[in-house]
Amino acid sequence: MALFNFSNESRNTYVQTNMCRHCKEINSIIVDMDAFTQWRTGKLFIQDAFPHLSADDREVMISGTHIACWNEMFPEE
Ligand SMILES: [Zn+2]
Repeated sequence: MALFNFSNESRNTYVQTNMCRHCKEINSIIVDMDAFTQWRTGKLFIQDAFPHLSADDREVMISGTHIACWNEMFPEE
C-alpha cells in the first residue's frame, strides 16, 4: 500500500483510496478537501486543483491505475 500525503495539515483533508486495476495495489492519496471538492464538482481541472501531484499521481487520483501499469496493459509499439 502506497500512502501519499500532500495535505496541508492545518486544513481539512480528504483521503482518496482506490485500487490499481493492473497490479491490485491499494493507493491512498491525502489531499486538501477544498481542492478535492472543486475538482469533483468540475470547478478546477485536476492539474489546477493538485498542482503538487505528479502526472502519475494524478492518474492514480482519477483511475487508481499507475502509469507504469497502463503501459504494461497497453504497450506502445
Ligand atoms: Zn499498478
